[in-house]
Amino acid sequence: MSGPSRAARHGAVAALIRSIGPTGLRLPHTGVLQYGPDAPKIPAAAVAAEDADLLQRMASRGQRIVVRLQMEAHFEGEVESANVVGELRGRERPEEIVVVGGHLDSWDVGAGASDDGGGCIVTWEALRLMKKLGMRPRRTVRVVLFTNEENGGRGGLAYRDAHRSELANHVMMLESDTGVFQPTGFGFSGTSRARETVRAIASLLAPIGATRIESVGGGADIEPSVREFGIPSLSLEVEGEYFLIHHTAADTVERIDPAHLAKCAAAVAVMTYVVADMPHRLGE
Ligand SMILES: [Zn+2]
Repeated sequence: MSGPSRAARHGAVAALIRSIGPTGLRLPHTGVLQYGPDAPKIPAAAVAAEDADLLQRMASRGQRIVVRLQMEAHFEGEVESANVVGELRGRERPEEIVVVGGHLDSWDVGAGASDDGGGCIVTWEALRLMKKLGMRPRRTVRVVLFTNEENGGRGGLAYRDAHRSELANHVMMLESDTGVFQPTGFGFSGTSRARETVRAIASLLAPIGATRIESVGGGADIEPSVREFGIPSLSLEVEGEYFLIHHTAADTVERIDPAHLAKCAAAVAVMTYVVADMPHRLGE
């Protein structure tokens, strides 16, 4: 992220980094870069791990390496965008809010099916399932599809700023942004008392194998709100090839298994519904 400016300070005319994803598909991994204010803005790109290894072997042999760099990446300036928000108002305590969501944007090398189309779909679907089944919980459940996670996180910051007056009444925030493969459970950050409740709720998901509670939860979009207001935060956890494919041309919809998608939606729906409906507020 800061590598190109560091290289430029040493006279580099361009910077190539080894993709942070694992080897396997020979695909470069797209990501964000931030130029320092005090260095020339040189072109920068990621190369696939396999190609980085090749360059390394050539260098180790003492070969002279010539790279011709042709890039189309460019910046088109600022435009207005929006988060998409929908909610099921709570039947008893509508002012207390449980937020679930993912982010709408993605890197344009792939379709963004796993990062984060799937996250948007399963959180939206969780809310739709409650509505379809006529299950209106005590508290409000709000789905937020954040914009601009990948290159600035401004959807998450804007949510925090626009909803500041009700954040103290956010009971829980959950983000799905690590893929929608076989769910294993949730990551959780919050008090140990809240963790025990989350663990008990997750035990309801034994039939689909999603009972595990990891030591840390959250997500880039909910982070600004969570950090400032100490809101208990969860992330949907899955097993699968997310890290290999996200931010690459391989992040396409045919990699998503409808059965996994359904299980992820079920896991989010159960966790969210119980937290929104139980008599006491999570953590109390
Ligand atoms: Zn993402």
